Amino acid sequence: MPWCEPCSRYFAPSAMTTDGACPACGKPIDAPLRRRSSEAPTLRDLSEMSGERAPWHFKLLMAALVAYLGWRIIAPFVD
Ligand SMILES: [Zn+2]
Repeated sequence: MPWCEPCSRYFAPSAMTTDGACPACGKPIDAPLRRRSSEAPTLRDLSEMSGERAPWHFKLLMAALVAYLGWRIIAPFVD
């Protein structure tokens, strides 16, 4: 939450001026929410970090699951 020191007030990001200043006294407000939210990783960043390259044990688990389910499907017809 953006905080204005001279006014001792919190401001919603939409209540601030376009350049991130206090609407009452005109001083720039520390730590506007817009800057903080751009620094925080978004869900898309996290999926890009963990996506594409799955860890080897995850692939092993998926392969084992496919092999197990495949066997459960064909097992009644084998003997
Ligand atoms: Zn102010």
